[in-house]
Amino acid sequence: MDHPIWKKYMFWFFVVGVALLLAFLGYQGYVLKKQKETMEGTLAALETEHASTTAALQEFQQKFEMTKAERDIIEQNLQNEQSKVGVITNQVEQLQGTVGTLTKYVTTDKQLLAKYSKTYFLNENYSPEHLMQIDPSYKSSPQKEIWLQRDMWQFLKRMLDDARAQGIDIAVLSAYRSFDTQNQLKTTYKVTYGAGTANQFSADQGYSEHQLGTAVDFTTSKLADAVSAFEKVATYIWLINNAYKYGFILSYPKNNEYYKFEPWHWRFVGVALATKLHDENKNFYTLDQREIDQYIIHLFDPIP
Ligand SMILES: [Zn+2]
Repeated sequence: MDHPIWKKYMFWFFVVGVALLLAFLGYQGYVLKKQKETMEGTLAALETEHASTTAALQEFQQKFEMTKAERDIIEQNLQNEQSKVGVITNQVEQLQGTVGTLTKYVTTDKQLLAKYSKTYFLNENYSPEHLMQIDPSYKSSPQKEIWLQRDMWQFLKRMLDDARAQGIDIAVLSAYRSFDTQNQLKTTYKVTYGAGTANQFSADQGYSEHQLGTAVDFTTSKLADAVSAFEKVATYIWLINNAYKYGFILSYPKNNEYYKFEPWHWRFVGVALATKLHDENKNFYTLDQREIDQYIIHLFDPIP
């Protein structure tokens, strides 16, 4: 008898259970739907926000690109202007250099680098524009007046000071000689030795160089006027090895073809030309005058 009752209750239990389950599922479905709706709303909001952010970013990027392009243009213009200024500065500097070179060329006495020969003398009326007397301590005889070309003095003084600092006995025997002085000297020689010997001794080429004021005859305290032995003294060797550094050259070296050997007679031609002649083992008088003339502008360039 128990069975039917049990069965009866079982049936209602089942019905109630299914109803509860359906109600639960229905509620869950409602909750999920609500959640979905909320999430969709959030997503939509996010999408809108993303879209506006993207738009703002794009706008910013565009502006940034434009600014960058503008900056590039400005920079380019600036560089153009700067290079124009550079070109102009260069041109001005070149012009200044050219003017400087021209000024040097125009103002430097061309005779100071001229070659003289038995047929090409310096004009008898020529005299250096600026002459000065040298300090007695550099002269072989303190009583004697010695004049020389003013711009050359700093080179000669430095050479004499350096030589003496190295223990070299050196003094100036003679420098500038006017046409008249030279003529008198030549006449004296002629009287003493006869015309033929006089030409060999004192004249012609050597005289022109002394009339320039840039040729110097050196001696030592022992030799004084007796310069014929100058070839044998240490002073001569020192000059051979060092004079070019100060712009001096031996005008008439041993075995030259144009004038008698004068070891005491040195001419100032500027450091550049003297160094070239020394380095290439050449003589001033065998060089072409046109080649020599290129050194006019460097004549008084300072000792490096
Ligand atoms: Zn001389």
